[in-house]
Amino acid sequence: MDSRETAHCSQPVAAAPKRPRRVLLAAPRSFCAGVERAIDAVEALLEHRGAPVYVRKQIVHNAHVVRELERRGAVFVEELDEVPSGALVVFSAHGVSPQVRVQAEQRGLEVVDATCPLVTKVHAEARRFAARGDTVILIGHVGHEEVEGTLGEAPEHTVVVESVPDVATVEVADPRRVSYLTQTTLAVQETTEIIEALTRRFPHIRAPGSQDICYATTNRQLAVEQIVEAADVLLVVGSANSSNSVRLVEVGERHGTRAHLIEDATAIEPAWIAGAEAIALTAGASAPGKLVDEVIVALRSLGPVTLVEHVATVEDLHFTPPVAARFR
Ligand code: SF4
Repeated sequence: MDSRETAHCSQPVAAAPKRPRRVLLAAPRSFCAGVERAIDAVEALLEHRGAPVYVRKQIVHNAHVVRELERRGAVFVEELDEVPSGALVVFSAHGVSPQVRVQAEQRGLEVVDATCPLVTKVHAEARRFAARGDTVILIGHVGHEEVEGTLGEAPEHTVVVESVPDVATVEVADPRRVSYLTQTTLAVQETTEIIEALTRRFPHIRAPGSQDICYATTNRQLAVEQIVEAADVLLVVGSANSSNSVRLVEVGERHGTRAHLIEDATAIEPAWIAGAEAIALTAGASAPGKLVDEVIVALRSLGPVTLVEHVATVEDLHFTPPVAARFR
């Protein structure tokens, strides 16, 4: 078993009728490079520095990952005042605002920053756009940790919009000096519609140098789009607070296919798959691949399964670990 994955054992969804099924497996699915890097950092610190390793917020948005790291000695806290002065603390993959960095310094904490480099890129853009005098329109979900962190880079110059209707009411200091950024884990299609609405309202709006929705989010949505219409139901492995996982469910629904977010195989309701001949299956970027394997095992307990993997694209991106978590 991969050390980062849980010892959790799935229970067959025994109440569903037995019948042959096809499982259309989306690829890419499961961990992205930013999630791998963040989990690897905590694991390396646990191994080389020993427990406890404090982590601000969930290192990645997955309950299984968090439980497994907790079992090995990670201590997850909501805010830095829960960390003893001078202790080691890891910042999660979603990033933090500059205010959190200042607080860490004031508390004398030793910081290991596991912010995904693709989130760090958005932070840098927020600073740059605000410094040139723009109002930064941040497309994203209010209250999401990543949005809180990015917003914190220039709070006086940033406004958040969540939807096309928000665009009509957003207020900016000067309509000719406006830029936009996006959360990295949004729905590609919906975000395009918001950007089009922004461009209609602010013809001078400036875009980031390259799109902020990350490669992993884009690829997982593309992979689902390519299979979901051939399926009776879509199962997405991921936690409810995982933005990119929830977006995958929405992709399925937008294509007219019933879709369900499941924490693991035990969450499958027999009624969802009772009449299903073809089941599309994927996992969000923070969900361990082992959980997908367990779903397949559970489905096999309900009759013969023909597994067909559809590879939309191949990912080979890896990020170097945070400097303070390199031990080799
Ligand atoms: Fe980074 Fe994208 Fe993964 Fe988030 S989903 S950790 S932005 S690669």
